[in-house]
Amino acid sequence: MASDEDAIVAIATAQGRAGIGVVRVSGTRIDEVTVGVLGAVAASRLRPRLAVHARFLDTQGRVIDDGIAILYRAPHSYTGQDVLELQGHGGPTVQRMLLARCLEAGRAIGARLAEPGEFTRRAFLNDRLDLAQAEAVADLIDASTEASVRSASRSLTGEFSTALTELGAQLTQARALIEATLDFPEDDLEDLETVDVRERVASLRRAVDEVMRRARLGAVLRDGLRVALIGAPNVGKSSLLNALAGQDVAIVTAHPGTTRDRIERSIDVGGLVLNVIDTAGLRATDDEIERLGIERTLEAVAQADVVLELIDATAVRDRAFAFDPNWRQRIGSHATVLLVVNKVDLSGDVAGLRDGRLYASAKTGVGLDALREELLRRAGWEHTPSEEGVYLARARHLDAIARTQHHLQECANHLQQGALQPELAAEELRLAGLALGQITGQVSADDVLGEIFSRFCIGK
Ligand code: GDP
Repeated sequence: MASDEDAIVAIATAQGRAGIGVVRVSGTRIDEVTVGVLGAVAASRLRPRLAVHARFLDTQGRVIDDGIAILYRAPHSYTGQDVLELQGHGGPTVQRMLLARCLEAGRAIGARLAEPGEFTRRAFLNDRLDLAQAEAVADLIDASTEASVRSASRSLTGEFSTALTELGAQLTQARALIEATLDFPEDDLEDLETVDVRERVASLRRAVDEVMRRARLGAVLRDGLRVALIGAPNVGKSSLLNALAGQDVAIVTAHPGTTRDRIERSIDVGGLVLNVIDTAGLRATDDEIERLGIERTLEAVAQADVVLELIDATAVRDRAFAFDPNWRQRIGSHATVLLVVNKVDLSGDVAGLRDGRLYASAKTGVGLDALREELLRRAGWEHTPSEEGVYLARARHLDAIARTQHHLQECANHLQQGALQPELAAEELRLAGLALGQITGQVSADDVLGEIFSRFCIGK
């Protein structure tokens, strides 16, 4: 990426025909562009943050468009630099001409096209947004449900960042308290108890766990819940997927081993997206292709948040299949497993949740509401998904929070009676603070920034 001082230019609105189209320029020096495009007289009428009616002119002074120009002076702009916003008519050609004209007018100052996310990157570098807020900008633009829009907006306004910053400050305070006792090693235990440092660390751990809970919910809201269907051939996995989705998405036959490829289907269950993976039947086989299918099944199982383990209510032998210890080993440690007893229409079992098992029939649909409800509950939602208090977290955030939790756990270990090691406890608190700081970008490597902003659209 070139310098963060360059004048950058982009069309900020979507490509296509629209009432209005906006071309945006940002840089430390952009007066050449302003004077060039508006002419000296109109440019002199611009006042910061004031909408001015103006004509946008080409090199020969011919009118390209007639619209509104707004000048923002640093640091009171989105990027924290001088920004010129030209609001013209939203036609693809007129917008392209205006873009080209801005580049041309800014040639002397090295104006160039903006890279994806470059406006927001500058906002971050100039402290207009922290990293979590910058990511929320992209999330808001990409949001596909109303719930995710509201969550992203709350992150953008800084709710997530504020919670993290407060936690960070508390981590620093606790560390300072421990470090204060290091000067008096002979009676450190007593000192630590006096300042109640153990209780502080315990309460910090509860607070971070709560942030993690909300962030996990947010990740599910953002990416959906990954649900893997496993079970012996013919227990009704494809049928169950179809029944949940409400349409035929997988091949259903009475011959074992038909579903060779895994099929993922996104299903909306009361506002929560379930990414349900239908898998090739797990069974011992000599067939090479089928074995590949089984390996894919196990990979899906390793990724899943919830594993639905199907058994056939009428066939006791399937229970043996379902519990093969080698397959069970592949289930991810964060996943929860729900045993679904299918085909209750044949066995006569009563549908619903009993003793941790879900009795249902993919054919008649009995028990499926109970199954949907149980899936929501396992996703962390007791009832209908609500975005209230949820942080629209990314994998990067979950990872940082998990590392914070780990360091706090280690810190607590070093503070235990009989195993007291204040230096190590303080160091773990420092590491916990570093991990947490990566979310808002207080601590972040350049490659992290590159990765985050390159996923933005141009003009943002
Ligand atoms: P899979 O191999 O586990 O995906 O099983 P399928 O979904 O292909 O189902 C195998 C057979 O069982 C098909 O003939 C289905 O129609 C039948 N089946 C699936 N679920 C039920 C059910 O709840 N009740 C009854 N009676 N038949 C079912």
